[in-house]
Amino acid sequence: MSKKIAFKTLGCRLNLFETDSLASEFSKRDYKIVDFSDKADIYVINTCTVTSMSDQKSRRVISQAGRRKEDGITIVTGCMATNYKEQLEKNKNIDYVVDNDHKTSVISIAEAHFNGEIIDNNSFEKDLFNYEPAKDTFHTRSFIKIQDGCDNFCTFCIIPKVRGRATSRPVEDVLNNIRKVVEFGYKEIIITGVNIGRYNSDGNDFEALVEKMLEIPGDFRIRISSIEPDGYTDSFFRLFKHPKLAPHMHICLQSGSEEILLRMRRMYTAKLFKEMSEKLQEMYPGFNLTTDIIVGFPGETDEQFQETVSMTKSIGFGHIHTFKYSVRKGTRAERLPDHIDEKEKNRRGDIIRKVSEESRLNHRKSFIGKTQRVLVQKILEDGYARGFGEHYIPVIITELGLKTNKFYDVEIHGLTEKDEPTMLAGLIK
Ligand code: SF4
Repeated sequence: MSKKIAFKTLGCRLNLFETDSLASEFSKRDYKIVDFSDKADIYVINTCTVTSMSDQKSRRVISQAGRRKEDGITIVTGCMATNYKEQLEKNKNIDYVVDNDHKTSVISIAEAHFNGEIIDNNSFEKDLFNYEPAKDTFHTRSFIKIQDGCDNFCTFCIIPKVRGRATSRPVEDVLNNIRKVVEFGYKEIIITGVNIGRYNSDGNDFEALVEKMLEIPGDFRIRISSIEPDGYTDSFFRLFKHPKLAPHMHICLQSGSEEILLRMRRMYTAKLFKEMSEKLQEMYPGFNLTTDIIVGFPGETDEQFQETVSMTKSIGFGHIHTFKYSVRKGTRAERLPDHIDEKEKNRRGDIIRKVSEESRLNHRKSFIGKTQRVLVQKILEDGYARGFGEHYIPVIITELGLKTNKFYDVEIHGLTEKDEPTMLAGLIK
C-alpha cells in the first residue's frame, strides 16, 4: 500500500520550489500526497527563520505534525531547521532534522527509514541544486531555482547563515529545467533564489541568463521574483521589451533613510533606488514595482522613519510588504544600540501599510480601460475566472466557461474593492 505523505512549506518562493520538486519526486515513487491536516506516514516541513514570527509559525506546524504522526515520521528541513539544528534534534516531535545543504536527500532519508536502515542524515552528499523538474506541484505557476546563498551580510539578515555563500546553478541546468516544465504545460515561470541579481555562472550574469531564458520557445512568460536593488543597467531594463518577460519586479528597498541603509549595510542609496524606479516608469509606464520595508530598525528616529514614508509615497509602489525589525541571533544589528519598542514598531508598520494600500489602489485603478494577458488560476463559485495579468495585478474575468492554466487577453472595465482591490475584465473578442 502506497505511503501517505504531507507537506508544509513556510517562507519564500525558494522553499516553494524545493518542496514542489520533492513532492513531485515522492509522487513519482507512488507516495500519495495528502493534505497536511490529514493522517500521513510522513510529514515534511520546509521551515523559515527570516523573522521571529517565522520561527513561531514553524514551531507551531512542527507541534501539529508531532500530534498527528503516531507511528509515522516528521522530517523538518529548511532555514529554521538549519538555524536551530541541535535544539530541534532534541524535539520529540521530530524524527529527522535536515539542513538546507542536505534538503535534496529528504527522499533518501524517508526511504531508508522505512527500509529499517540506521541513518545519519549528515552523511548524505551536500547538493543545493539536485532538484528534479517538478510536474505535479501545489501551484499553477512553476518556480525555478537559479541560485542559492548570499555574500551581502546585511546587518539585520540571518539568511547568509542558513543559506550559505552565494552559489549559482549552471546555465544549462536552469534552461533544461524551464524547457521541462514548459513541456509539462506550465505557463508562468518564476525565477527565484536568495540574491538572484548576483547570479554568475561560466561568465553568464543574471542579464545573460534571462536573455537565454527568453529564447526558449513556447507560450509562457517569465516573472522575476524578489531581487536586490544593486547593479542594474539600462541594457537589463531593455529586456522588459520582450513580451515574455513580465513587467513586474519585487525590489527590496527596506528603508528610505540613507543613514538607516548604511547601518543595514545595504549596497545602494535611497537616491539611486528612486532614480532606478523613475527610469523603469519612464521606460514602461505602469510597470509594477513592489517592495519590502523594515520598520523600527535599531536606532531609527522618527525623522528617518518619515524619510521612508515620503520615499514610499513618492515612488507609488504596486504593493509594499511591511516587516517589523525582528532581532536575529548572531546578526550584527542584534548588537546595535537603541532597539525600538514593539508598540512603536506596530505604529510605524500601520503607517506604511496605509501608504501601501493607497498606492496599490492607485496603481490598479490606472489599468481601467487597458488590456492584460491573464493566466487563469481558478474558477470562482459564480463560474467567473480569476488570475493575474502580466503586471501581476489580480483580475476576475466576468465570463463563464473559461479554463485554468490558460492565457486570456482581456480589457479591464472596472475594479472591485472586496478584500484586495481586484480588476474586473471582459474577454477581447
Ligand atoms: S541581500 Fe541582504 S537581505 Fe538579502 S539575503 Fe542577502 S544578506 Fe539577506
